[in-house]
Amino acid sequence: MTGTKIALVSGGSRGIGRAIVLRLAQDGFDVSFCYRSAEGPAAQLVKEARQFGGRMLPVRADVTRGEEMRAWVARAEEELGPIDAVVTSAGITRDGPLVLTEEADWDEVMRTNLGGVYHLCRAAVFGMMKRRSGCIITISSVSGIYGNAAQTTYSASKAGIIGFTRALAKEVGGRGVRANVVAPGLIDTDMTDKLSERARQRLTEATALGRFGRPEEVAELVAFLASDRAAYMTGSVVEIHGGIAI
Ligand code: NDP
Repeated sequence: MTGTKIALVSGGSRGIGRAIVLRLAQDGFDVSFCYRSAEGPAAQLVKEARQFGGRMLPVRADVTRGEEMRAWVARAEEELGPIDAVVTSAGITRDGPLVLTEEADWDEVMRTNLGGVYHLCRAAVFGMMKRRSGCIITISSVSGIYGNAAQTTYSASKAGIIGFTRALAKEVGGRGVRANVVAPGLIDTDMTDKLSERARQRLTEATALGRFGRPEEVAELVAFLASDRAAYMTGSVVEIHGGIAI
């Protein structure tokens, strides 16, 4: 045991999750992150995080599978130590007007965005409760608070994350475990790369700061919530959206 803090980040290989991995590593955490399939970005991230000197444990594991989340948590605790922070960033979109959506897309979004949060928190929280310390940070979205046209499925999954996290905060607060939600607006990642130029223009204009956010800006907030500086924060939904939702 090293005394270093240990963090787990789902969907850590790309985008917001990747920035969170680097930011937590910079803060001195040893970090294990999971990803679904992209080996290349995961390996590149491990290389980049080396500058911070902490241990990194990349694991290919699918958040929709409970057994893979349990195995990941067990392996991280065995190889790195007791988990102090869990960040759930793995997520997908299957956008489109409700009348055009497919049931399979609904299932996949729910299983990934909401089921993934359930499986990882279910696997990790008992250890935190026993140690009477730890924090969980779930990544929702402004879509989960305000709704977004052509994102009924995604918005429902992200709203579910808020209900889940607040319920968990009430359940485990007495055991010294905190749970908070981060709800980003539009952030420049592969996820938003899919937007048409027209949509991007419209959304940029609708944002008070006149630009999309950077993954590092979300990671900064997550690092704060994962630190003792946020010791009195639990059950909060913290929005970070450059003024698109005001
Ligand atoms: P990206 O598409 O850039 O990255 C998604 C990450 O999640 C990848 O690492 C991917 O792994 C991983 N992932 C996806 N499905 C699974 C799965 N089944 N099991 C394990 N890992 C999985 O997304 P963003 O960084 O943009 O989004 C991160 C989170 O932030 C999501 O929850 C998203 O909903 C939320 N968000 C994003 C916003 C944005 O504007 N970008 C705005 C608001 C919220 P792999 O590389 O292997 O595919």
